[in-house]
Amino acid sequence: MSIIEYAVDEGVAILTWNDKGRATNVVNAAALAELDDALKKAVADSAVRGIVLTSGKQGTFVTGGDLEQIQGFAAETFEPADFFRKTVLVLDQLRRMETCGKPVVAALNGIALGGGYEIALACHRRILIDQRYAKVGLPEAGLGLMPGMGGTQRLPRLIGIQQSLGLMLEGRQVEPEQAKKLGLVDEVVPPDQLLFAAKKWIASGGKGVQPWDDKRYTPPGGGIDSPLGLQTLMGASAMTHANTFDNFPHARTILSAVYEGMKLPMDRAGRVEARYVITLLQGTVARSMLRTLFFSLQEARKGARRPKDVPRFEVKKIGVIGAGLMGQGIAHVAAKSGIGVVLLDRELSLAERGKGTVQKALEKQLERGKTTRERADKILSLIEPAESYDRLDGCDVVVEAVFEDRHVKAGVNKAADAKLSDRAILASNTSGLPITELARASSRPASFIGLHFFSPVDRMEMVEVIMGKETSQETLAKAWDFILKIKKAAIVIRDSPGFYTSRVFGTFITEGMALLAEGAPPALIENAAKMAGMPMPPLAISDQVGLGTMHKIAVAKSKERGGAASDALSSTVQAIVDRLVVGHGREGANTPSRAGFYEYAPDGKKRLWPGLKEALAGLIAERTTALRADELKKRYLFTQCVEAARCIEEGVITSPADADVGVVMAVGFPAYTGGPCTFIDNYGIKAFVDEADRLAKQWGPRFAPPNLLREMASAGRKFYK
Ligand code: NAD
Repeated sequence: MSIIEYAVDEGVAILTWNDKGRATNVVNAAALAELDDALKKAVADSAVRGIVLTSGKQGTFVTGGDLEQIQGFAAETFEPADFFRKTVLVLDQLRRMETCGKPVVAALNGIALGGGYEIALACHRRILIDQRYAKVGLPEAGLGLMPGMGGTQRLPRLIGIQQSLGLMLEGRQVEPEQAKKLGLVDEVVPPDQLLFAAKKWIASGGKGVQPWDDKRYTPPGGGIDSPLGLQTLMGASAMTHANTFDNFPHARTILSAVYEGMKLPMDRAGRVEARYVITLLQGTVARSMLRTLFFSLQEARKGARRPKDVPRFEVKKIGVIGAGLMGQGIAHVAAKSGIGVVLLDRELSLAERGKGTVQKALEKQLERGKTTRERADKILSLIEPAESYDRLDGCDVVVEAVFEDRHVKAGVNKAADAKLSDRAILASNTSGLPITELARASSRPASFIGLHFFSPVDRMEMVEVIMGKETSQETLAKAWDFILKIKKAAIVIRDSPGFYTSRVFGTFITEGMALLAEGAPPALIENAAKMAGMPMPPLAISDQVGLGTMHKIAVAKSKERGGAASDALSSTVQAIVDRLVVGHGREGANTPSRAGFYEYAPDGKKRLWPGLKEALAGLIAERTTALRADELKKRYLFTQCVEAARCIEEGVITSPADADVGVVMAVGFPAYTGGPCTFIDNYGIKAFVDEADRLAKQWGPRFAPPNLLREMASAGRKFYK
């Protein structure tokens, strides 16, 4: 056997899962076949009293299903009957294991997720090591999938319907202490006592019988037809609908599998689950999410698009100029990865204040048990506040994060450039100023690049990398090495106004304003955006960004155009923002005015401002016909998809995978669609073009599909093969 190692120790068969061809163990056909053989051998051996299943990988038991194999099942050529047959074989195999008569213990020496945890659920006891990284759970929902190896049946039977539904619908990964509390594992022990604890349980008479195979068994909290069971399902159905607007089919299939499966004996319950898994895999949502949120994200995390022929660049020390919101965040994530940071601001006190904010964030993490004192101290010791550019000496990368003002940035970048060695690179975190122009402040524009981090830096994984006209491939490779070291993912784009992610997202906000100007009720504008799957609706997000800030940007842009008029829609948006800011002093949610499209109570609660219609008199039309929420949803999605396609046509971004994962991860484009290119592919290119033409005719030229899409439609091409 090459994956499952077999040994017998003091009458206990130790099955060690160790797939040498992979960094971690995953559930696939080969591993399952070997596991089955090993179990048969252990059961047949009369000298074996019990079985322990563990892993030979440091820190991980089994990380989940083999997603490449799952992607194969989700392919369009997928044969449902074949999948059902294969799944039933696996379900029967796990059923054989739990009814084999000998006690089987899952000795979880680290992460046990998805299929890995489902195998553990089919064991008679689960023992987990007491390390925080050792998470367990069924996270399939995060990829639009559902457990498919009996998880929807065993987990509710083990810990109760209520608890298990929450965990499965959210796809939560649970740390050891909490896992023990919830009953996901029976014991938590130090790593060096894991096998001892497993053998001890067998030696002390641990039974090889699952609770649900006992005639008197009822699930914790009651069965599915008990008052609590029914109440839970009704509540969960309603909540799921309210939170997801039915955009995620896996939520429904998980609920249905639990409801129907819990009425059946375990032998048959798994088959109910298998049928729902098939329905899910045959739909476009799971297929799309899997591709974007797993495969494309993995590429963005691994640096698949890093130029290959540039030697690896070791980043040991960086400079961050501007110790404000973004600068602090960048300094924090870099120090967390062991990089020394010079945090520089106009005055030392400002730089120190920036470091102080990092310290506060660490204290909070400490309080919540998310870090240790030693680690927090180490991170802080790596950040050196400064005001002199001399301190940048020896930095490998410098990230400029000062005010969004081209003159201020030019001065700062020039001063930094003078201190940097030839091998170092200089990056700007500008939200939208042209990188090619900012690079002029540098004596080596080839070593200048845009690194657009998103706020909050510690939580937002994606970075948009912007290539100026002169940025070299070597600089790009060095930027990648920095990004990978701080454990971020990235997409690479060409310098152009608004870059990529903000440009796509901007169309969403504009659409909300366009609807307002058309006289659509504000509540409908907001609710339809949520129904489309946007995390925050356009008027609320405008308040968050700050109407005052939007106003300032609009004024600056108008100055740059020499007062020339912008297009009609931009003028309308500007007029609305002007009226609220200048006319009514409503600058946004996080400003002293604490007012915008919404009004904000001191306790943080908000409601749409009832005076909005009156305040915008003359700027918003009187509607005579009703608007349908479906049409609004479509407008929100189409406007962003058309813009993404335009960016591809213009060469701002070249890879559809980057285009998809970039906006899903950075600006909350609805994950269930798989991203704008996947959305267009799934809609059908021709159908999309026809519908965009209709929208353009009805609502304005912003919906007009770019030629690229027309050509693709007539050639029968798609973004993805
Ligand atoms: P901020 O106002 O919080 O911080 C800017 C910092 O730069 C301040 O500490 C200021 O003292 C310092 N600074 C100004 N001029 C300086 C100079 N000449 N020398 C040294 N330091 C100077 O701003 P922020 O939100 O952190 O934004 C910084 C940059 O990041 C901007 O270009 C912004 O567009 C961009 N950005 C912001 C966000 C966001 O959500 N806030 C997101 C992405 C990118």
